[in-house]
Amino acid sequence: MTDTHCPYCALQCAMTLTPTGPDSVGVSGRDFPTNKGGLCRKGWTSTELLRHPDRLQTPLLKDDDGVHRPVSWEHALGLIRDTVRKVRAQYGADAIGVFGGGGLTNEKAYQLGKFARLALGTSRIDYNGRFCMSSAAAAANRAFGLDRGLPFPLADLGSARTILMLGSNTADTMPPFVQHLQGARDAGGLIIVDPRRSATAQFTADGQGVHLQPAPKTDLALLLGITHVVITEGLVSRPYIAGRTRGYEAITRSVAAWWPERVQAVTGVPAETIRKTAHRLAEPGGTYILTGRGVEQHTNGTDTATAAINLSLLLGLPGTPGSGYGTLTGQGNGQGGREHGQKADQLPGYRKITDPAARKHMAEVWGVPEEAIPGPGLPAVELLASLGKPGGVHCLFVHGANVAVSAPNAATVLDGLRSLDFLVVCDFFLSETAAEADLVLPVLQWAEEEGTMTNLEGRVLRRRKALAPPAGTRSELWIMSRLAELLEAPSSFSDDPETVFTELRAASAGGLADYSGVDYAMLDDGEPAYWPYPTGSNGTPRLFLDRFAHPDGRAVLHPVAPSSVAGVAPRGTLTLATGRLLEHYQSGTQTRRVGDLLATSDSQVIQIHPVTAAGLGITDNAEVEIGNGRGTVTARAQLTTTVRQDTVFLSFHFPGAGNANLLTSDETDPVSGMPEFKTTRVTVRAHRSA
Ligand code: SF4
Repeated sequence: MTDTHCPYCALQCAMTLTPTGPDSVGVSGRDFPTNKGGLCRKGWTSTELLRHPDRLQTPLLKDDDGVHRPVSWEHALGLIRDTVRKVRAQYGADAIGVFGGGGLTNEKAYQLGKFARLALGTSRIDYNGRFCMSSAAAAANRAFGLDRGLPFPLADLGSARTILMLGSNTADTMPPFVQHLQGARDAGGLIIVDPRRSATAQFTADGQGVHLQPAPKTDLALLLGITHVVITEGLVSRPYIAGRTRGYEAITRSVAAWWPERVQAVTGVPAETIRKTAHRLAEPGGTYILTGRGVEQHTNGTDTATAAINLSLLLGLPGTPGSGYGTLTGQGNGQGGREHGQKADQLPGYRKITDPAARKHMAEVWGVPEEAIPGPGLPAVELLASLGKPGGVHCLFVHGANVAVSAPNAATVLDGLRSLDFLVVCDFFLSETAAEADLVLPVLQWAEEEGTMTNLEGRVLRRRKALAPPAGTRSELWIMSRLAELLEAPSSFSDDPETVFTELRAASAGGLADYSGVDYAMLDDGEPAYWPYPTGSNGTPRLFLDRFAHPDGRAVLHPVAPSSVAGVAPRGTLTLATGRLLEHYQSGTQTRRVGDLLATSDSQVIQIHPVTAAGLGITDNAEVEIGNGRGTVTARAQLTTTVRQDTVFLSFHFPGAGNANLLTSDETDPVSGMPEFKTTRVTVRAHRSA
């Protein structure tokens, strides 16, 4: 029996894998504070993928006819060495790009940043967490000086009397999480903000809470309205504001004009509900404010998350035992993935790449001169937009991401991938991105490798090997270490996870995300390890109890305002919102291969209100075309009153003509680089056959 954690989302539910044959394992839930033994359907079926017939088992090289043919590892790695040298000579080192993933282990995420900067010599590395946590991270960094998704153990939520959750549908995305909402439900204090009546919003029925259903992309105005009431109706925690924050005066001015009746006109949420929400949040007994991608994946995502943080600070929640603010990380290692250096602007330990002290520290750890470490690269959307362009990336490595499906404005990303001189993809299935690759390298799956992940609480967990990998596959650490050798990198690269983790600990020491006191042995003993965990400490389950991470120890209230108030959609258009389904994870590369999950969700479905559908002549289950200037998607209609009449919903799990990201915009948040995934204008019509 092997104790490990689920391969999918950031809840990282604990599970036990038990041999069921010479080359197979079964799965059961394991008691752990976050999942309390529970698993969702994705977790229960996760082992089906380990020996799936689609599993890649040998490197594949595309021939002149566009057909992938098996090649040896020696040939594959030699070809990469020769291509990297050629591209560097022709265009310069920054013509090599690396795109990482929030599902990679801490060891791989760390090694990938080092590999890009030292072995390839490029600054052009970023990862798909830019599409996930970047706005929340930017907001937390500017407010608290530190970004850890939940700055408290998840189990703390259980004692809350009031929870305000904005833009997160955990009942579908991480079902075992909802156990932690029960205390607030029982107290009638679960407040869900979502333009859709999502599965989570439905938990507020029967007096157990309230569902606020604002118009799409008006969450920021709603938060300003609640904040206005908190300030004007005497709900501010005065001693906390005086003792632990700065910037209060600017906040009072910034929300002065956002009185509830004006906010009602913008959002559609009744003024009285806004007032009641503010008063409920200020009641004693424990209040938490949580945000998710629904409010963050916008061009104003950083400001909206900042508004939620401002509200929490005015109420005196962050760092107060039994209360708090947090954001719910999505990807399996969405937290650790952004701490160890695979971001364009960061070095390990969550250090800024432009910070001279950080560069000096990393140069010492890596044993290279400081000048050997390139400067900041391009955030994900800009990196993908540069593919094949003059001055852009001409050779791209992709690890643990499926950008052909998951990136916004997907048709242009596909064009970019096809214009590259050389594309290398590491994956265990032929994803839509791997299908475009010149060279595909088959890698290990979660149950075949050792390593660590960091869950949504900032708790470091052990991933353990339960099964030998297929003979033709290799770990990404092995691939990087061999390539580093072939490219004569100026630093050593290990292929042993524990050795890499030991180096990661040294790299992180003294940084914001300090792992120096964590080791495999203590994790194997089940010791809870929340970062920052400097050597000699006991870790930090609860952050900010005494001080925030800014030099003066105070949190910063940062005034924000909607840059433009979302208005009525142009005639004939609807607002498209995108999100996740219970059955699937991310771009669906894995979950679209699981029979039990496909049985209830096998293709794209558009959720549309019956009144809207009737006006468009669309019936339930009919084939529908959703289009805008960027592309057209086809989907089956699901008539449901859970969406607003001005809004339709598509999931982002399906490829090809069902890919919702054919429609989404690659316009980005100016602070975080987050694309606008959540609101897009579209026209919808019944499908006309050719
Ligand atoms: Fe896995 Fe997330 Fe489901 Fe838990 S909630 S079983 S971590 S997918």
